[in-house]
Amino acid sequence: MSHQPVIDGLEFAQAASKLQGAWPVTEFARLRDALRTEEGTLRYELQGMPETHGRPALRLIVDGVLPLVCQRCLGALEYPLHIEALLLLAATQAEVDAEPLEAEGPESIVAGREMAVQALVEDEVLLAIPIAPRHAACARAAASAPGATARPFAGLRGLMDGWKH
Ligand SMILES: [Zn+2]
Repeated sequence: MSHQPVIDGLEFAQAASKLQGAWPVTEFARLRDALRTEEGTLRYELQGMPETHGRPALRLIVDGVLPLVCQRCLGALEYPLHIEALLLLAATQAEVDAEPLEAEGPESIVAGREMAVQALVEDEVLLAIPIAPRHAACARAAASAPGATARPFAGLRGLMDGWKH
C-alpha cells in the first residue's frame, strides 16, 4: 500500500503535528512527463505551525534528485531539489484571491479537512523545477562557438538565474 496521508489542514497546524515520508518520483503523475527516467525518490517533511504571520500554516520541506533532461543537449540532468515552503492556511479561496501576489514570501492555500499531502508536495515541486532545465556547464555549449547555434531558450536565462539556490 502506497503512502497516501491526508491531513485536516487547520487541525494539523494547530496541533503542531509532524509528518514525513517519501515517494518514488514515478508516483507523481503530473511530474512524470518532465522526467527522463523513473529513478529517484522525493522525501518530504510537513510541520504544522499554529501561528505564523498571524495565521495557521504548514511548513513543507522536500528533498531529492529529479532525473530531468537538459534542454540544450538533451542529455541526462540530475536536478537536485531542495524546497522549503511556508503555506499559510486560509479559510476560503476568496481569502486567498484577495491577497496581493508576492514573488517572495509565503503562499496562501485553502485549508481543507482532507488535504492530500502528496498533492501538496507535487504542487511545490512543479513550481520549483525550471521550465527549461540545462546543465550549468553544458557539453554542447562548450563545443560550439558563441552565437553559432540557435539558442531557443536563451530568453529564459534571466528567469532561470532567479531560480538558482
Ligand atoms: Zn546539457
